[in-house]
Amino acid sequence: MENEKKSQAKILQEKLVSQRKNAVLILDEEKIQKADKFCEDYKEFLDCAKTERNAVEKCVILARENGFEEYEPSKAYKAGDKIYYINRKKCIILTVFGTEPIEKGIKIAASHIDSPRIDLKQNPVYEDNEIGFFKTHYYGGIKKYQWTAIPLSLIGVIFNKDGEQINVNIGEDEGDPVFCITDLLPHLATEQMKKTLSDAIKGEELNILIGSRPFRDDEISEKVKLNLLNILNKKYSIVEDDFISAELEVVPAFKARDIGFDRSMVGAYGQDDRVCAYTSLKAILKCKNPSKTVMAVLSDKEETGSDGNTGLQSAYMKYFIADLAKQFGAEGRTVLSNSECLSADVNAAFDPNFPEVTERRNAAKINYGVVVTKYTGSRGKAGTSDASAEFVSRVRQLLDKNDVIWQTGELGKVDAGGGGTVAAYIANLNVDVIDVGVPVLSMHAPFEVTSKIDVYMAYKAFSAFFLEK
Ligand code: MN
Ligand code: MN
Repeated sequence: MENEKKSQAKILQEKLVSQRKNAVLILDEEKIQKADKFCEDYKEFLDCAKTERNAVEKCVILARENGFEEYEPSKAYKAGDKIYYINRKKCIILTVFGTEPIEKGIKIAASHIDSPRIDLKQNPVYEDNEIGFFKTHYYGGIKKYQWTAIPLSLIGVIFNKDGEQINVNIGEDEGDPVFCITDLLPHLATEQMKKTLSDAIKGEELNILIGSRPFRDDEISEKVKLNLLNILNKKYSIVEDDFISAELEVVPAFKARDIGFDRSMVGAYGQDDRVCAYTSLKAILKCKNPSKTVMAVLSDKEETGSDGNTGLQSAYMKYFIADLAKQFGAEGRTVLSNSECLSADVNAAFDPNFPEVTERRNAAKINYGVVVTKYTGSRGKAGTSDASAEFVSRVRQLLDKNDVIWQTGELGKVDAGGGGTVAAYIANLNVDVIDVGVPVLSMHAPFEVTSKIDVYMAYKAFSAFFLEK
C-alpha cells in the first residue's frame, strides 16, 4: 500500500513538477561528442575574432566559403539567394531569402561582436621615469583590477596622414611580444588593499607597458618614447600624430582553451557575445531554402549601449531591411512588423561561489542548455522589452519540437543590478523579440567560461528558428 501510494506521488510529480535536468543526463554519448566537436571550430573562431573588425573579416571568409555574396543594391534577389551586408567594417548582416514573400516577415537572430576591452586614447604614447606606456580608455563594463598583470595583445587600424590604412596585430602570434598593465606588489599594497575593488585600480591607471629601452643619444629627453616611436615608424611607417586617426584595442593575448579534467567547458576572451554570434552565424551558413527570409545580424557597440552608427539603436538594420523590402515591392515597416527576432546574447550562469546575487529558482545553470530570457533590464524591469507570453509560447514549442535543451534564466536577483541587450531596440521597430543565448561564468572577465553543450544547444536553437516552416 505504502509503495503504491509513493509511486502514485511519483507519477504525479513527473506529470506536474518541472523536470529540467543537466543535459549530460539527457543526451547520449554521440550527441555530447557532437557538441565537443562543434566547439573545436568555435575556439578557432574566438582566436581570430577578438575585435569586431576581425570578427567581420572572419565572418566574410566563412560566408563566402558557404556561397554568400556581398549585397548589391541594384541586384534582383530570389528565394535561396545568400547575401551579406557590411556596415563600416564592424557589423555584418547575413541573409538567406525565403520562398515566402518577404512581407510575411523575416526571422532575425541578432548578436553582437564587440566585447569589453581597453582602447587606446588618441594621444597614447608617453614615457614616465624611463618606462614607455600607452594611455587607455576602457570600453564596456569591466572590473578594472581583472585587466592588470595578464598578457595583452594590440589589435586595430591606424590611418596615416595620407589616409592609408595600416593594420596592427601584435601579441596573437606565438613569436610576438605582448603587453601588460602592471599591478602593485602585495608587500607594498597595504593602502591599495583597503580600497574597494572598484577604486583599487583607476581608469587612469590602466596604462599599457610598451617598452623600456632608451634611444642611444645624450642630446634629447624622453629617449624611451623616441625609441618606441622609431620602432613603430620602422615597422608601420607611422608618426605620433597618426594615433589620432586610429582605433587600437587592447585585448587578452591568451587563446581559447578547454576547461576542466572532463574538458566540458570553453574558457576564452570575448565569449559575450561571440558565442551567440558564432552559433547564429553557423546556423545561417547551414540554412538552405528557408521558407521565411532569415537574417543573422552581428552588431557592434552593444557593450556601450548600442549607440552610434554601428550600434543597433541606429537605423542601419532598419534601412537594410527597407532596401530589401523595396526590391520585392514591399514596405520596410510591413516586413519589420511581421518579423520575429531572437536577441542572441549571453546570460549570467549561476556561480556557486557567488550564490547571493542570483535567485536560484530563476537563474540559468551551465549544462542546462540555451537560456530563454523573457525580459532583461534592471529594478522594475527598466529598459526591457519583455516578450509577450504568446511569443514565449511560440519559442518554447519551437525548441521542444526540435529537441533543443533549454532553460529560462533571469540576470540576477531583482535588486542586485541588471543589464540589457539589443532586444529592446529591435522590439522598438515593432518586431517580436526574445533573448536566447548561452549562460556564461565570469561574464565580462578577460577569460569567460561556457559549457560546450550549451554552446551547441544555442546553435541548434538558431538552426531550428531559421529552418522552421
Ligand atoms: Mn552581450
Ligand atoms: Mn556584455
